[in-house]
Amino acid sequence: MKAILVICDGMADRPVKELKGKTPLEAAHKPYLNKIAKTGICGIMDTIAPGIPPGSDTAMLALLGYDALKVYSGRGAFEAVGSGLKVLPGEVAFRCNFATVNDDMVVLDRRAGRIRNEDASKLAGSLQKAKLKKVTNVDFLFKSTLQHRAVLILRGEKLSTAVSASDPGKTGERVQTVKALDNSLAAKHTAKILNELSKVFHEVLKNHKVNKERVRKELPPANIVLFRGAGKIPKISPIPQIYGVEASCISAAPLIRGVCKTAGLNLIDVEGATGMPDTNYKGKAQAAVKALKNSDFVLLHIKATDVASHDKNPKLKVQIIEKIDAMLGYILENVDLNITYLAITADHTTSVVTGNHEGDPVPIVITGPYVRRDDIKEFGERSCAKGGLNRIKGSDLMPILMNFLRRTKKVGA
Ligand SMILES: [Zn+2]
Repeated sequence: MKAILVICDGMADRPVKELKGKTPLEAAHKPYLNKIAKTGICGIMDTIAPGIPPGSDTAMLALLGYDALKVYSGRGAFEAVGSGLKVLPGEVAFRCNFATVNDDMVVLDRRAGRIRNEDASKLAGSLQKAKLKKVTNVDFLFKSTLQHRAVLILRGEKLSTAVSASDPGKTGERVQTVKALDNSLAAKHTAKILNELSKVFHEVLKNHKVNKERVRKELPPANIVLFRGAGKIPKISPIPQIYGVEASCISAAPLIRGVCKTAGLNLIDVEGATGMPDTNYKGKAQAAVKALKNSDFVLLHIKATDVASHDKNPKLKVQIIEKIDAMLGYILENVDLNITYLAITADHTTSVVTGNHEGDPVPIVITGPYVRRDDIKEFGERSCAKGGLNRIKGSDLMPILMNFLRRTKKVGA
């Protein structure tokens, strides 16, 4: 027995006026999702807990069966791992942005005009050679990833994730001094390192030839690096070790890739997978079907639904759900449902009205050879609430799936 778990990021939603009181999922034409609902067992799920809006990282930890509230140790390390870097226990990683500041260190553009990869990579190369004077016994690794995004990893003794961000989070405000968020020496030490890096990086960047060229072309110079999202690698047992399965992940989002890699899943790359509405849906479905040959469990993640929600675009969200439906059609036609379980859900609700993650439960369906089929005929937030799974927690999902795969152990005699 094998399983595919499809996670549509932020797909669940609330009723929307523009869609005549339906949610985007309810409004979408989705023959395959409805077929899966008809043949499967449905329910709703609180990824973390009722009313608690999950981040995509904590949600993914919960959906992989971990106690997210206990094991979560910040976002930065997942981003770094998902970008192909290695983060060792004890190291602290940060999400970074190349940004533009004026002479008063006021942020003018948090993305430095969405700087091109080549420019960002040249700047990152120079920053990697920068020397710290005030702080010793720490090494750093700095790497640009996509456009303005970059990752910083600190290696050394006494490092902490309990530090504030230098990123003010919006334009028109000054770059923040990083502060220790607790009284530990490690937090104070880490804040000191970041404040020095911020200054040293600014010195290197403001005179850099890439930036001089950008100014000449009237592009915003990438003259500062903003730090946020401190994180360490959590101490978790990998999925293959817990359940004895070979597991793979298909996702274009570095954060999700990082969580899955940390949980012991193999990362599968798909050409044209972008993490955006224009992603290669069919290519991802083909990769999932192919991955089933060597994997017992395949997690297929689609980011686009969350992107449309954050953009407050219900029509786009409906279109994306319809593309996901077609993608599921390909999977249904190409896997053997006598030996394969297929589960579809979202990692959280993202409202197209608020543009935020919300704490409402998400719909879930599982189909496969031995599920107790219920009477639900449509896949939606409200229809699934009447299904046979009732209301489960995010961390219940993995044991339920792994039980179908005969990979859970009996409790007691
Ligand atoms: Zn998410």
